[in-house]
Amino acid sequence: MTSTSSQGPVGRFAPSPSGSLHLGNLRTALLAWCVAKGRGGQLLLRMEDLTTGAAPLAEAEQIADLALLGIEFDGQMLRQSERSQRYDSVIAELTRQGLTYECYCTRKEIAEASAAPHGRVNAYPGTCRDLSVSAREQLHSAGRRPAIRIKAASSVVTFVDEFAGEHSAVVDDFVLQRGDGLAAYNFAVVIDDADSGVDQVVRGDDLIESTSRQILLQQMLGFPRPTYIHVPLVLGTDGQRLSKRHGSVGLGDQLRNGADPGRVRGLLAASIGIPVEEETIEMHEILRAFDLDMVPREAWILDPNSIKW
Ligand code: GLU
Repeated sequence: MTSTSSQGPVGRFAPSPSGSLHLGNLRTALLAWCVAKGRGGQLLLRMEDLTTGAAPLAEAEQIADLALLGIEFDGQMLRQSERSQRYDSVIAELTRQGLTYECYCTRKEIAEASAAPHGRVNAYPGTCRDLSVSAREQLHSAGRRPAIRIKAASSVVTFVDEFAGEHSAVVDDFVLQRGDGLAAYNFAVVIDDADSGVDQVVRGDDLIESTSRQILLQQMLGFPRPTYIHVPLVLGTDGQRLSKRHGSVGLGDQLRNGADPGRVRGLLAASIGIPVEEETIEMHEILRAFDLDMVPREAWILDPNSIKW
């Protein structure tokens, strides 16, 4: 757990150590850094390594690439893979309060609503909500391992995103713990943010659909609600989320091969609405010029192969 002492907001950047950070991840990290630092706050780092498991190499590479750009973090880094006891104890408490149930639906259905933060948000129809004890026992003895779902009672959650405006969604009985025992993304994020004192969440707007679920859980657990700032993603020229398929998007290789971090900063800074006179820019100049209102409302379309490092 991280103790924080400043008066300003506490933000976080929460990558998954599943490979190199690409320009899209770095742009989100830069935005999170600008918003936190611009308001006199701190930025924490959290490794969302539940599905990958601890990944020391990818983790070290991501931290090194962020540092090369000039993004350093405050406090102690948190790894989700080290927090299963904490997650289990919160689930046990919710269960004790009668707020959860076991779900034996197929993995396919569970996968849609569980660990993947960017998965489509499909409403779970509540199939297992009222399973009888004997039906559960039968499924158990047939070797089925249940996921744990929250009783969300189709609550409607509305929140005002500082960048994206008002957002409202009906929250379904989403998964807290997958059938394999791993904490699900929406659950772990809520516990981690609260335990770390995070009160400002800046992240890609592909996660805005998950936010109502997270807020409902915060309410059920009596946790404070952070400020949300969902920012547009970086897309390839085909309109899809930036990925390896679009070319050399992994920045680490370029940086390690001698690409000038200042130019990378220049590219990212220009994409968040900062006038970049030279091709390069320093972090303190970015911070001075940053204004959330100047960040473009639409996705940044990028052809990574067109960049001359
Ligand atoms: N781990 C998620 C990602 O890499 C971010 C989750 C979050 O910010 O809540 O996109």
